[in-house]
Amino acid sequence: MITQNLHMHSTWDDGKNSIEEMILASKAAGLTSVGVSLHAPMPVATDWACPMEKIPAYVAEVRALQQKYAGEIDVYLGIEWDVTAQELDLTMYDYVIGSVHHVPAEGFPGVDSNPETTEKYIREQYAGDADAAAEAYFGELKKVAARPEAKIVGHLDLITKFDEIGHFFNPESPRYRKAALAAMEKLIAAGKIFEVNTGAISRGYRTTPYPSKELLGKLHEMGAKVTVSADAHHVTGVTCAFDLAEKMVKDAGFEEIWVLQGKEFVPVKI
Ligand SMILES: [Zn+2]
Ligand SMILES: [Zn+2]
Repeated sequence: MITQNLHMHSTWDDGKNSIEEMILASKAAGLTSVGVSLHAPMPVATDWACPMEKIPAYVAEVRALQQKYAGEIDVYLGIEWDVTAQELDLTMYDYVIGSVHHVPAEGFPGVDSNPETTEKYIREQYAGDADAAAEAYFGELKKVAARPEAKIVGHLDLITKFDEIGHFFNPESPRYRKAALAAMEKLIAAGKIFEVNTGAISRGYRTTPYPSKELLGKLHEMGAKVTVSADAHHVTGVTCAFDLAEKMVKDAGFEEIWVLQGKEFVPVKI
């Protein structure tokens, strides 16, 4: 059974509930430890990232709640850093998730905004070539390898978020696969832990977690480390589809997942 979730948001960024509400919901759902993973400040104004000036107050609130709930549920101070986030000190966090939420194209289009944006950036920025957009995305994700504080790689194939609604990408195409595998290889070599992330299920966009079954199988073949996370933005999603994620991890051949214990990530049998 999965008893930890290190990926959740709150009203400090684009989540719908307070941190304390998220902690209490996690405890009620049977988790024994949680991490709060604030969206790091971005260089442009967004409706989802936390502005730089609020960081000290966020840190103080999580540290206070950590104390308040000590002995009941372990609370970790985290951050979801984006490769294009504003420069900030990542060493003060208990753990860091490294993610990519944009393709590196004009206007900085979000890869997980909505199906219309996905259709538009592929058509306008990549001349309708979805493989080129995938190459750009996975090229960005590789940069997480160079950031030692980021031990976890967030939602590996986030670009496919809307592929059950529309069909924007072709993960079977040789160019898509090559780009994804190149990023995975580099991130594995850097010792990163890959999330099996159920966030899009709770939000009704997908019926399966990231990464795809195929990429998860490849991760196992390549000797990657994995963890399971909810990417929860609401109290109802704190352990969303964890049974399914655990089954997918086992079916892919993994016998353990990595969890944060104190200051270290350690493998735990599943
Ligand atoms: Zn994210
Ligand atoms: Zn997130």
